[in-house]
Amino acid sequence: MTDDNAEARRVPDPILQSNPKAGYLAHREEIDAALLRVANSGWYILGQEVEAFEAEFAAYHGLAHAVGVASGTDALELALRGCGIGPGDAVFTVSHTAVATVAAIERCGAVPVLIDIDPETYTLSPDALAQALKEWRGPRPAAVLPVHLYGQVADMPSILDIAAKHGLRVIEDCAQAHGARLAGRLAGTWGDAAAFSFYPTKNLGALGDGGAVITGAADISERVRELRQYGWRERYVSAVPGLNSRLDEIQAAVLRVKLKYLDAANQSRRRIADAYRSALSGSGLNVPASTGDAFHVYHQFVVRADDRDRLQAELRQAGIGTLVHYPQPVHRQPAYAGRLAYGDLRQSEAAASSVLSLPLYPELDGESVSRVASTILTLIGHR
Ligand SMILES: *Cc1c(COP(=O)(O)O)cnc(C)c1O
Repeated sequence: MTDDNAEARRVPDPILQSNPKAGYLAHREEIDAALLRVANSGWYILGQEVEAFEAEFAAYHGLAHAVGVASGTDALELALRGCGIGPGDAVFTVSHTAVATVAAIERCGAVPVLIDIDPETYTLSPDALAQALKEWRGPRPAAVLPVHLYGQVADMPSILDIAAKHGLRVIEDCAQAHGARLAGRLAGTWGDAAAFSFYPTKNLGALGDGGAVITGAADISERVRELRQYGWRERYVSAVPGLNSRLDEIQAAVLRVKLKYLDAANQSRRRIADAYRSALSGSGLNVPASTGDAFHVYHQFVVRADDRDRLQAELRQAGIGTLVHYPQPVHRQPAYAGRLAYGDLRQSEAAASSVLSLPLYPELDGESVSRVASTILTLIGHR
């Protein structure tokens, strides 16, 4: 045996930060059958699969309506427009989020106003929202768009109180929170409407792009349904100016399989998070709080470290993939810097410079989780 082989045997496999292929392989036969069913059906856009998925996704949430669309970004834009939000309106949201949240607000013609986060939950701070509404002198405050970041539901009881007081619509960004709960109530069932993404790495992921709007209101659902297909109320007749944003049959068929396993996948994520938390508590690293009322579904397990970039580089060297969600808050990004409305965003800026998302996907095995935790402990023990 050569030295090269001995070396190769000592290097463990790299650990991926996310692994959508593992989610496919876990249900390969069922997914393959679904793909073939669509291919053989001869019907590829807005057919039985989308209709069935919409019914199943609505039922999962105990709501009357779900509308499949082409992406999470589109779902946000259409949910806003479905709620009547547009030019002349201000929409209050966070800066510590995927840019898609803010992009969707601008695409519907409204003005985004960025609010700081609670540093424990990384979600919209109700106190900061109340303060911003008191001081706001711009376009009419029309809606609040909380983001259930990393898989944790924002403080919806407080946000709904404030929204009621100011006559705001509530649109939830659930792109990272499929199946998450607060006080037993699912993400997406608190507001007027909610937007989901089915990007492959999300808790419910397709084999491509996809999204959905859910709502209990028939009029919002009807408007979103028209808008996703050229503003048609009847075929070839546009009642309103719409767009093309359809979930396709193949993605809907895949999502129908994966929806059946969503709760089990979220339980796996929670088990992995518990393992990380117990291995890393007492290490000095800040780990996510686990509060009694929250059913966190750990789209990400996010730790905080002052020397985050160094830790990330050292983990990469050890074959462990991590990501930063997100390295720059939206108000600092080139496309938005200097032209968005916001107040004090110090918690958002502090988060952007210290957060690190560890490897986490439902199929990640216990041995890998232990290796990630012990590598981190060794690295920070040597500081
Ligand atoms: C992924 C994501 C989106 C956008 O979803 P796409 O399907 O990529 O358009 C929006 N908001 C948040 C918080 C996300 O994580």
